[in-house]
Amino acid sequence: MKKQEREKIVALDKRYVWHPYTAMQEYRDSDPLVIERAQGAQLFDFDGKVYLDGNSSWWVSTLGHAHPRLIAALKKQADELCHVSLAGVTHRNAAELGEALCKIAPPGLSHVFYTDDGSTAVEMALKASLQYWAQNGRPARKEFLALEGAFHGETLGVTALGGIAAFHDVFAASAVHCTRLTSPCVALAKSLEELEAHLRRRHERIAALVVEPLVQGAAGMRIYAAEFLRAARTLCERYDVFLICDEVFTGYGRTGKQWACDHENVSPDFLCTAKGFTGGVLPMAATLVSERVYEGFLGTKERAFHYGHSFCGNPLGAALAREVLRIFDEEAILEHAAPKVRRIAEFFESMQDVDGVLNPRALGMIGALDLEGSATGYLAHAGWEVYAEARRRGAYLRPLGNVVYVTPPLTISDTDLSRLLEILRESVEQVTARARRKA
Ligand SMILES: *Cc1c(COP(=O)(O)O)cnc(C)c1O
Repeated sequence: MKKQEREKIVALDKRYVWHPYTAMQEYRDSDPLVIERAQGAQLFDFDGKVYLDGNSSWWVSTLGHAHPRLIAALKKQADELCHVSLAGVTHRNAAELGEALCKIAPPGLSHVFYTDDGSTAVEMALKASLQYWAQNGRPARKEFLALEGAFHGETLGVTALGGIAAFHDVFAASAVHCTRLTSPCVALAKSLEELEAHLRRRHERIAALVVEPLVQGAAGMRIYAAEFLRAARTLCERYDVFLICDEVFTGYGRTGKQWACDHENVSPDFLCTAKGFTGGVLPMAATLVSERVYEGFLGTKERAFHYGHSFCGNPLGAALAREVLRIFDEEAILEHAAPKVRRIAEFFESMQDVDGVLNPRALGMIGALDLEGSATGYLAHAGWEVYAEARRRGAYLRPLGNVVYVTPPLTISDTDLSRLLEILRESVEQVTARARRKA
């Protein structure tokens, strides 16, 4: 029965569904995972197999799947109010969540603008920067600075910031003018020199610097020195240019602290959060702004921010996001993750000794390594061979090109974490040994 049901789903899917970041020609011949339910760090396929969710389902299920408190909060809210516009209307969750967010945010962030997902959280920050300067005496500030290898999402605006050629090149000719600096992951001193030079020469044209603090996720879990973040804050202040920190991936404990900014006590002008924001249950996001930014939109009617989404402040999402913050506090999520952070760091350090593995690295609940020997870049294949091996062994380890990584739920059990890392090691060893035999 189950087998037939599964086959039917796959047939319908292949007939009707276009998948994200997926080569559909190839997909038609593949046997996809068909997930029926999920619990904690485990995904259950219709065929009865269990897979450890090595990447928290694209980095969102920070508290694991089906957290009982989140399910309860969602059900309770659904009985009361599923949606209402936030234009001149409010509700309990939007208000209480706003307070809770500002309390845990880096100091100086005093207001919350609700958005739909990571892309729109950053898009909002870009548009608000442009409008801020336009109506506060600096109308020439229309350009952005970002980092090579950056990923800030999928709208045409934020795509213009992106520095991953495979994601960005076809869409590059959009309205947003962006200069990309050498990434601090590649060369810290050069990156800072370029930043300083651009700001010195062109600050009257630059609206904001946009960064993923501490780690460029989509570029391949590239980690950089926290020192860059501190220096970027200082330079942006000196030239009075906004600093936008995209914490869509790094927020909610992914790097071991609530925010990556907390590692250097940096307060940006805009902080964008999504992914773990609702515990990965619903798409909802927020952009936190400083008092100065907020005040730049006060005054007459025309000065209002011309922006908003149908689902801004959605009561279901807001109820979840509120409950997520309570869970982080009451269940001491970060404290309990600390030993797992150490376990991941030790494990990836030990991968140094495996033939064919380069540059093993870890930060918080992120561990990654590069596979040597095949073409680099997003479309390379060794990572997918590891994916296939891991799938056979019961783990979902979607690679980024030749980068194999884990970003498990912060709440993953010790047993599941050990098993996940063991599967990663076996799969990598299998693939690199096979490559050596071929060579
Ligand atoms: C995933 C991601 C985004 C985009 O978020 P979506 O919710 O997919 O729109 C933006 N920035 C960073 C750093 C991300 O990792």
